[in-house]
Amino acid sequence: MVFADRVNTLVQEGAYVVFAKAQELEAAGRTIIHLEIGQPDVPTPEHVAQAGIDAIRAGHTRYTLPAGTPALRQMVAEDAGRRRGLHFDPAQVVIGPGSKPALFFPTLALVRPGDEVMYPDPGFPTYKAMIEVAGGVPVPVPLKEAEDFSFDLDAFDRLLSARTRLIVLNSPSNPTGGVMPPSALEHVAAVARQRDLWVISDEIYARLVYDAPAPSIAALPGMLERTIICDGFSKTYAMTGWRLGYGIMPKALAERVELLLTHSVGCTATFTQIAGLEAIQGTQEPVEAVVREYRRRRDVLVAGLNAIPGVSCRMPQGAFYAFPNVAALGKSSDWLADHLLEDAGVAVLPGSAFGGNGEGYLRLCFANSVENIQAALPRLAQAMRELRSSAVSRQPSA
Ligand code: PLP
Repeated sequence: MVFADRVNTLVQEGAYVVFAKAQELEAAGRTIIHLEIGQPDVPTPEHVAQAGIDAIRAGHTRYTLPAGTPALRQMVAEDAGRRRGLHFDPAQVVIGPGSKPALFFPTLALVRPGDEVMYPDPGFPTYKAMIEVAGGVPVPVPLKEAEDFSFDLDAFDRLLSARTRLIVLNSPSNPTGGVMPPSALEHVAAVARQRDLWVISDEIYARLVYDAPAPSIAALPGMLERTIICDGFSKTYAMTGWRLGYGIMPKALAERVELLLTHSVGCTATFTQIAGLEAIQGTQEPVEAVVREYRRRRDVLVAGLNAIPGVSCRMPQGAFYAFPNVAALGKSSDWLADHLLEDAGVAVLPGSAFGGNGEGYLRLCFANSVENIQAALPRLAQAMRELRSSAVSRQPSA
């Protein structure tokens, strides 16, 4: 079959590939511990789910305006603005089915053929995909492990060109859990202002932080008019399957994105938006409780990983991912992830699923019970110890 070029480079997200293989093993009777898929293991808060159910029963099952219900746009503008110390007009808010449309559609609206777009590598696979579909040139920016996986700013400066149009940031990050420090954000902001560039700031994990808030680049001087904030309900409110997210951007761009929504998805489910309204307006206690719980799980997982010879793992500051360096084990991350699934029955993702610079790392999601994490650790440790001892025994004696 012949396809258009714009879809020829698209590949499946690594998480789904590993998940499918893990399911095959389960079907064959194996017990697998799932640390691959990045979604909360807790249910949607009861009061939010109930608001959605009530909305369906009350007949809120029809089309709504493409950019979202006025009530939700208003509420998001207030809540997202207050949390970032900014003022947003509801006309700047575009609601979509998940936050992915708030990444994809602004990219489609801004990137012209041949425009270069910088994005973090390792990074969320959708960034490269959306750049390519938009006809842009993906320019991966390496991250620096020693600086909590923030942008390697020397590489960033070197990779800038006259064709650079857009910079994608993701802090806290998937897959590293790193949070960009203010100094790095200021560096990127200065470049964006100087060169008149756009920034997409993917802040979907902004509420899942463990030690300090993650600052938004949008709050830096002169950045509001060139930044698209992408955020949503999936991770914060455990609503991945509801499909609800938003972008906040300059009004003229929001109008273009609204047209893209009109002609693609039409609108976001009305009852889902009513549930989202309740998520923002209602008690935030479930969010606070889950952050406390993720912190406990993070500490268990990272301590356990660091106790394995050949593994070193920085403490993630946000999101729910640990990204241990496993280069010392001498295997490709792809091989290692596959081996850990087959041999130890633990599903993890290879760092290379997040770009070439993810090689030498694994991603483990700690949105899973402490019991499961504690069950996974000895299995991982044993499989990795066996690898190291077989590597040592293969070395020629001096
Ligand atoms: N951005 C990042 C960094 C993510 O990890 C994800 C989901 O895994 C998304 C965006 C998309 O989330 P959703 O479309 O469910 O809001």
